[in-house]
Parts: sequence; structure tokens; C-alpha cells
Amino acid sequence: MNERRERSVACAFCSCCCTDLELVYQDRCIKSVKPACSIAGREFSAGESDPPSLKRGGVVISGQKGLQTICAELRAAKLPLILIGGGISLESQRSAVLLAKKLGACADTPASCQSLAFARAFAESGIPMLTLGELRDRVDTVVFWNTDQNQIHPRFWERFIGVNRPPRIISVNFEIPEQIPDSCLHISLDMQQMLAHLIQLRLVLRNETQQVSPVLREMLATLRDAHCGCMIFGESLLESGYGVLFEAFRFIQELNDIDKGRWFGLMLDGEVNSAAAADVLSLETGYPAAVRFIKDEAEFSTTEWSAKRLIQRGETDLVLQVGQIDARIQKEIENHITNYTGKMKYMVLDSKTPLIQPSTWLPVRRFGLDEGGTAMRMDGLPIPIQPVQESRKIGLAEALTRLIEGVEP
Ligand code: SF4
Repeated sequence: MNERRERSVACAFCSCCCTDLELVYQDRCIKSVKPACSIAGREFSAGESDPPSLKRGGVVISGQKGLQTICAELRAAKLPLILIGGGISLESQRSAVLLAKKLGACADTPASCQSLAFARAFAESGIPMLTLGELRDRVDTVVFWNTDQNQIHPRFWERFIGVNRPPRIISVNFEIPEQIPDSCLHISLDMQQMLAHLIQLRLVLRNETQQVSPVLREMLATLRDAHCGCMIFGESLLESGYGVLFEAFRFIQELNDIDKGRWFGLMLDGEVNSAAAADVLSLETGYPAAVRFIKDEAEFSTTEWSAKRLIQRGETDLVLQVGQIDARIQKEIENHITNYTGKMKYMVLDSKTPLIQPSTWLPVRRFGLDEGGTAMRMDGLPIPIQPVQESRKIGLAEALTRLIEGVEP
């Protein structure tokens, strides 16, 4: 049996984008991955399997004929919606935007409400950000807001939290892993009251009130003692909406204004490039979500062109999902399909079996496995990803290029 090793392999299966993996091949199959990571081990060893068939009448299509089918449906649709998801390369996301432009279609990102809330809070307040290298080497206090790193980024602690010089950890609403010292301050805060908690923390910091719960007082004392700190925001905090994000960002700014220590923020992304979809759409159109192309010009309106509203009101007659999308948008699609059977076509271009039943699915190569491209690490560093195995399926980037050519008038 032929064994070979590939070193310094970059991984695109979560937004840590580790670049230090060693893959061991036996013949052409990947047999093991080092260092151990539950997600990378599973994804790299999955190999190329035949896609399972869809239940209840959905059609799995492939190759040139499959692309022609999607092309014909896109050309016939009155108001197509291109949903640009995560788990795919930045290049594919950009091609999906160009496809929407060619079609005069709407384009939205997987978590458009979240993207918009974040973009608005960021524009109005802004926060200093840092690289993961700085997090590991400089930071002495880390606050994890509502994030379970072990589940979504299995090697985050090992790679980016200083092991030799462990920082003080404050974990808000999240169980810390066993390897973290007992001295970690664990705080449980009611998510419904998060806005009030943040306002209270800011008021106490500015000496505008002394009325604060003992737990928040202890948290603030630890924060004010830091020389260099970082607040890491998980998805559920990002989903809390504009008010919470604005208060959190202002809190970081005020810690920097009032105290001597430096504070930074870091947003977490679960699936690789899912947050980057909003950045790609912004770069191409000026808007992070809810865009419609009219005569090559991008128009932005959350009340008119967001995926949720277009689907809820039944105004789009074809949804083309490119990559993996947010569970809430999936729910909207599912509700619509259940309630208005047959009125809206739902087509998927992705490597994974869709969670809800599409009318048509064209399985493509998996980004990071048999498709290359660029992944955006969670601190914004672009990482080139090379395919590590061959595939008979069509690549997503190639499929999108052919669709763009195919829908040309
Ligand atoms: S932590 Fe993420 S990027 Fe690193 S090896 Fe595991 S899945 Fe890949």
C-alpha cells in the first residue's frame, strides 16, 4: 500500500483556518489528520461519496446538463434571488454576486439581519480589532461572550490562547473547557437583559451610577485591571441585534478612553466565509445585504429586497442558494414551500446535502477538500486553500462561471 504525507496543509473547515496540518494518504485516500481536530478529521476523511438522493421528488442534477437546467430556470424567472452562503471560497461568493448582477436579480447573505445590525453598529461606533497572533502573544485578559469555542473551533484554545502565559479568562454564558484554569471568572447573564447589563456596565465605568450587581462589579474590576484585553463575540451575541452590538462596541471604546489598558474586539464566524459573504457583497455593491440589481446598479432596501421578506411575501419565484445558509432563512424557505407549494422554485448549488428539500440540487466540490480558493480567517486574514483530493464533480467556481456565461442575453 502506498503511503504519502502532505505537510503544512491549510484547513477551511472552520474560520480558524489552521495552516499546520499533516495529511496521511494511503493510495489516494486521506487516512489521518494531525494534529487531531474533530472537525478536520471528519471532513478530510469523508472522501468523495456519491451524493444521496433527495426525498419527496427533489431532483439531483449534475454536469453540463444540470447547469443548463439551472440556466434555463434562472432566465425564465421573474425575480430570482441569489442567496450567497458560507462554506465556499471568496471567489465563488464574488461570482455569485456577479451572477445576480447579470440577471438583474436580488442578492442577500446568509444572516442578513445579523450582517446589517453588525454593519450599522460598526459604522456608528467602530471597534479596534486585532490579529489572532496578537491575541496569543499580547493579550492578558480575554472575555468570551456567548461562544462555545470547543464545538465550533476545536483548536482555537490550543492555537490562539497563550498556553505558556495563559490570560485571565472571563466567560459569559459559556462553559469553559477543562484545560482552562479554575481562576476563570464564569458569569451567567440573562440574554434578554443583555442590553441592560451592557448599559449598566458603561454607566458604572463612567462613574454615573454605583448601582450594579456584585457579579458585574467583579467583572468590571477584572476588565479595568487588564493591560491588553480582547472581547470575543460569539454568534448568539451577534444575533442579539443592533442595540446590544452598539453597546458592546461603545463599552470597548470607553474602556480604552477611560483606562490605561488597550481593549480589542473579535467577531467569531462558525462556517468559514459565512461572515465574509456580507463583506464580498459590500465590496461589489456598497451594501452588505438586501440588494437588487436594476440595470447594473445595486439598490439597497431591507424592506424590499431582503431574502426573508422576499420569501415571506412570495415575491421571488426562484431562490438559488449558493453555499450554506443561515437556519432562520432555511426556516422561511421551508415555511414558504409548505404553505405555497409549487409557487417558488428552490435550487441549491452546494457540496452538502441541503437541510430542507430543494426542487433541484447540483452537488459541487467541497471547498477545502476538492475545491481551492481563498478563505477569510476570523481576524480577516486571507488564507489560500489548495484542494487535497481529486473529484469527478464540477467545482462551484467553474459552475458559477458557466452560469454567468449562460445567462448572458
Ligand atoms: S480548528 Fe478549524 S481550521 Fe483548525 S483544523 Fe480544526 S476545523 Fe480545521
